[in-house]
Amino acid sequence: FMPMAVIFSLLLIMVTNSWLKRRVSIPDQLRRAIKRHEFSVNYQPVYNITTGIVAGAEALMRWQLPNGQWARPDLFISAAEEEGMIVPLTKHLLELIAEESISWQIPPGFHLGLNITGEHIQHPDFITDIRQFAAQVAHHHLLITLELTERSLISDGPEVIEKLQLLRNEGIRISIDDFGTGHCSLSYLQTFPLDYLKIDRGFVAAIESTDDDAPVLDAIIALSHKLKLSIVGEGVETSVQLDYLKDRGVTFIQGYLYARPMASSALMTWIQHEGQ
Ligand code: C2E
Ligand code: CA
Ligand code: CA
Ligand code: CA
Repeated sequence: FMPMAVIFSLLLIMVTNSWLKRRVSIPDQLRRAIKRHEFSVNYQPVYNITTGIVAGAEALMRWQLPNGQWARPDLFISAAEEEGMIVPLTKHLLELIAEESISWQIPPGFHLGLNITGEHIQHPDFITDIRQFAAQVAHHHLLITLELTERSLISDGPEVIEKLQLLRNEGIRISIDDFGTGHCSLSYLQTFPLDYLKIDRGFVAAIESTDDDAPVLDAIIALSHKLKLSIVGEGVETSVQLDYLKDRGVTFIQGYLYARPMASSALMTWIQHEGQ
């Protein structure tokens, strides 16, 4: 004879246990998704205002769930970062790009932007990962650009700078992503091995709004001219924004006005028809 309370607690333990077992951790979900080929890459063209032709494209990760829905990149990527999975995920992305790049036909000097996190730079495989990727796509004569956020640069002083300097000497370009939203000190910008600043799209959006961010945008542009860094204006959606950036000597833009992120095959068609 068992009292009701005991039966109830046993039942509760059994139910909770199986529920816990059925829950798949985020790292396991990501590993499983890699195995099941649920990740893919989109490429968003970058436009050179000065030459009037395509300058390159940024690789953006995509995850299609088994139910057909697309996971939001900002969400699954920050989850991967928090759970220590961004390095394996980025390695997978580099493999995917290298595989599909076999069929590419692109002009030499085409920029390929890769989003790289601070954790990856600090990882012992970092240099090897980038070198290996660069070797795999070497026949295309791409300009590989690592897009780093301000946060990832500040993380770990001299070691990070040395690694980036090493790659930069081998022809890899460095760009600061979402510039203006982080905490990069100005002196840092001067000493750091850098090629481009990508102005966060919040500042680009401010061009047509009445808030106080437009003077900040002007200051960033002036600063980058002083430091001899090229600027990429992100999230350009209107011709007003384009003209504003053009008038102030911004060289590159990226945004829905010019092109949306697209699959590898679509990028090739796009380059042939609109990109030159
Ligand atoms: P991000 O690096 O700043 O990438 C630009 C984001 O802005 C992309 O969002 C792109 O689709 C979006 N975008 C481009 N033009 C416009 C526009 O005109 N208007 C608007 N509203 N949005 C525009 P996406 O693909 O959703 O990626 C979001 C973020 O996720 C990225 O921001 C990046 O931080 C991260 N991410 C994406 N792929 C990767 C990856 O392979 N590795 C890492 N570490 N992060 C990634
Ligand atoms: Ca980026
Ligand atoms: Ca950005
Ligand atoms: Ca962003």
